[in-house]
Amino acid sequence: MHSKEHPIPWFSPDYTPKFFNLDPETEEKVVLISTKVTGVFEAAINNQCNENICVVPNFENPLQSKEIQGAFLSWGTLIRKCAAAYLDVETNELSVNYFLRGKDETETEIRPAIYLIENLENGAGYTNHLGSMNDKEKYKAFIEPLLKGGEVYEKLTSDSHKNKCDCSCYDCLRDYYNQQSHSILNWRLGLDLAHISADEKFIPQYTTGYWKNVVDTCLKGYKHENPTATTKEENGIIYVETNEMKFSLIHPLWSKNYIESKINVNVYPTVFITQFLRNFGKDVIVNK
Ligand SMILES: [Zn+2]
Repeated sequence: MHSKEHPIPWFSPDYTPKFFNLDPETEEKVVLISTKVTGVFEAAINNQCNENICVVPNFENPLQSKEIQGAFLSWGTLIRKCAAAYLDVETNELSVNYFLRGKDETETEIRPAIYLIENLENGAGYTNHLGSMNDKEKYKAFIEPLLKGGEVYEKLTSDSHKNKCDCSCYDCLRDYYNQQSHSILNWRLGLDLAHISADEKFIPQYTTGYWKNVVDTCLKGYKHENPTATTKEENGIIYVETNEMKFSLIHPLWSKNYIESKINVNVYPTVFITQFLRNFGKDVIVNK
């Protein structure tokens, strides 16, 4: 065998390919990206609109961040329902997911958002169609159905659904594909976000409206399991005391300022109402 000089391998930084234009005068930098042919439809909430609410994750508080994710995924799943109804297609033709839009020239804060993409390869143009609607059409398609009198709202809050669904079920938000999110999906939280999207002054309350019955039932269950527990409601806040502890229930979309203006958090540490329902709702008891 005789030794032969090998050229510099093509992956070496010193390798200079033949026939490449290396003249800096005419050289052009290009970035190659692979794109999906399907479109994307994005929806977010203007988070600077109301000092009483907070729709941005606080990364120092993983529980809160998870609740924000749950709220957005729930809202997104409801938005998908609206989109499918508007387009007259099945909900499984669209996928929904949660993401955080980073700070850039147009965004001074991170902003949680949801996006819909088409599941069909090459798409049918649904998301482009949704994105090209004017504001009035978008309000009619994505906000109105989630407010009182709207089709999705009325279905969710009907006695037959509301009374059997503490957080989420296969009749509302759950499906086979979103299994890993089942535990954080909550249609009440999704509707609250929809109300915030419609009315910048809206402050969600868990002691009234579509929350009231499920919270009352859950408190009854909690008192049954903890016979020393007493509860009181004051100014829209429920306080719980047992021999061992005291806590107050808060809504995951309330701001820190709002919470501290209502509750002495040193005396009554806070627990998210969604967490409380997950742990002491009847869904849990049934599954035990
Ligand atoms: Zn349900």
